[in-house]
Amino acid sequence: MIVSLHVALGGAAGALVRSRPLALLLGPPLHVAGDRVPHEDIPDRSFEIGSGLVALGVLAARRGPLDPAVLGGAACAMPDLEHVMPALRLGGEKVFHRGGGRHGVGISAEAQLLVAGAVVGFLLRRRR
Ligand SMILES: [Zn+2]
Repeated sequence: MIVSLHVALGGAAGALVRSRPLALLLGPPLHVAGDRVPHEDIPDRSFEIGSGLVALGVLAARRGPLDPAVLGGAACAMPDLEHVMPALRLGGEKVFHRGGGRHGVGISAEAQLLVAGAVVGFLLRRRR
């Protein structure tokens, strides 16, 4: 699943639970669950990382860096760091991406981007 959608879904979960520890706790399992859904990937790693950081950045700018939505988004995207930082793997094994998952079929990358944008936009709306 694309990084920005992980950020969006983790952010939505954080906004729902309104608890920082809970948001941090929910992130990684939500990531694994998201990756289980058949999906296309974006082969462009720098776009993936960039769009994830942008999504996280606008959320942090709007809601504050320690908002549960921001922490949830970060915690949910975090497992993808093991793709780019082998040091995070346990004994060389990926922790969150065992078995490879299902790739190349299912939800298109465009649809995921659209949902990610919609969810992040929703989380950016002014709160009362
Ligand atoms: Zn992943």
